[in-house]
Amino acid sequence: MRHHTDQRDDLLLWIGGRYTSASDGNFFDTLNPATGEVICRVAEASAEDVDLAVEAAARAQPEWAAMGGAARGRILARAAQLLRDHCDELARLESLDGGKPLVETPEADVGSAANCLEFFAGQASSFAGKYQPVPGGFFYTRPEPLGICAGIGAWNYPLQIAAWKSAPALAAGNAMIFKPAELTPLSALRLAELFHEAGLPDGIFNVVQGFAETGRALTRHPRIAKVSLTGEVGTGKAVMRDAAEGLKAVTLELGGKSPLIVFEDADLDNAVGAAMLGNFYTQGQICTNSTRVFVHESVKDAFAEKLLARTAKLKVGDPLDLDTDVGPLISAEHMQSVLNYIDKGRQEGGKLLLGGGRVRVPGFEEGNFVEPAIFDSLDDNMTIVREEIFGPVLSLLSFRNEDEVLARANDTAFGLAGGVFTRDIQRAHRVADNLDAGIVWINHYNLTPVEMPFGGFKQSGIGKENSRRAFEHYTRLKTVYVAQGDVEAPY
Ligand code: NDP
Repeated sequence: MRHHTDQRDDLLLWIGGRYTSASDGNFFDTLNPATGEVICRVAEASAEDVDLAVEAAARAQPEWAAMGGAARGRILARAAQLLRDHCDELARLESLDGGKPLVETPEADVGSAANCLEFFAGQASSFAGKYQPVPGGFFYTRPEPLGICAGIGAWNYPLQIAAWKSAPALAAGNAMIFKPAELTPLSALRLAELFHEAGLPDGIFNVVQGFAETGRALTRHPRIAKVSLTGEVGTGKAVMRDAAEGLKAVTLELGGKSPLIVFEDADLDNAVGAAMLGNFYTQGQICTNSTRVFVHESVKDAFAEKLLARTAKLKVGDPLDLDTDVGPLISAEHMQSVLNYIDKGRQEGGKLLLGGGRVRVPGFEEGNFVEPAIFDSLDDNMTIVREEIFGPVLSLLSFRNEDEVLARANDTAFGLAGGVFTRDIQRAHRVADNLDAGIVWINHYNLTPVEMPFGGFKQSGIGKENSRRAFEHYTRLKTVYVAQGDVEAPY
């Protein structure tokens, strides 16, 4: 029997530090991906509501910027602590709205969001320019906030994405208007409440809910200085085109089809663990996932045997059950898209070694569950090896030598991430150097400590999140020249 049916009251928009109804009274439903049931209705923001959020942000931002980094940092640190205090509640909310297993959400979602707020809380007061003498005087630089920034999120890490975007933006003295993906609207509102409780001034963090139209209203808004999007490549291009009209800065965290390369000297148990993390965590709905697993031909059978044995044990089921490894995919539509890719893989000659079917979990028959799938006998041109599936589908490929595997690994329009498993330290770094990807893991996969810059190359995106580098994306740099002598004008 289901024990977590969790219907809630309508949710509104969060503008100017309080809940506000949508101006035209529209609502949309948010569904529980494990059951297909409606969790609640959510107010849909119109362009008029986006205007109201911009006005609230514009009223509040100058004072927030003037307040100083240490004071801003104190508020962000309080918010981080509140997230930790409410970890259980927030983790359940993420699992309920997004179908993510409850074994994942306390750390990967709530913990990651809290770490990010803490990191930027600490950085906020170290926000300095530089001084340099030059002939005739000196100059100094002033990093300044941009003003009002928009964050637009994907549905796979709703709270984490809201924190990864808002923490550096707010630490640097900006206001943010955040739009969650319409499939996962809940946790950003809870974050807004906790920011409020931590003492964040009204108007500094606003949440507008809705679909692409609401996102476009933000991207096209003349008073918004910057847009940070996490989403698909096509959405990234649309956002960049819209942002071009106002010459807004963009940070784009987009899709991927990342390689994991396992050499013959690798610790195979670790490599298998990493391949599973990089394909089945969050049901495979992770942008950096290592969906192309290249294993040296001499160890491929041994690798496959361990991989199949461990994957066969994964338990698909209720995301709120702590024994569950694999929850439902985000929506019925997305499940169908993943199942279509699995069919296509078979039709094009791939051999499905394991899984790949829809699962009807007892008590959750309408949930969007798909068994983790492992494909073999593939070639690099098959659709499932080239396109981002965003589901629990692992492609096993074999290789003979380093040059060959690097060429194949890099033969993609994406460039988000990659991984290498080897005990040869020189080879490890050589491969890391030569992978055309923004993030490379040596002997691990998908770890994203907040200190480490995160972002892709090529069509996987522009800019970095996390680390001090993120500040650069939420600031503009003013240079001030100071003369120390007379003005020698020739007239
Ligand atoms: P989408 O691109 O469909 O949506 C992302 C967000 O953009 C949503 O909030 C969406 O609104 C909004 N949006 C859609 N169209 C527009 C538009 N024209 N203008 C402004 N906003 C718009 O991505 P998904 O939510 O489906 O997420 C999955 C994708 O995200 C995958 O490709 C994945 O690789 C990528 N991703 C990248 C990450 C990274 O850091 N590199 C991390 C996580 C995911 P709505 O959905 O409400 O209609």
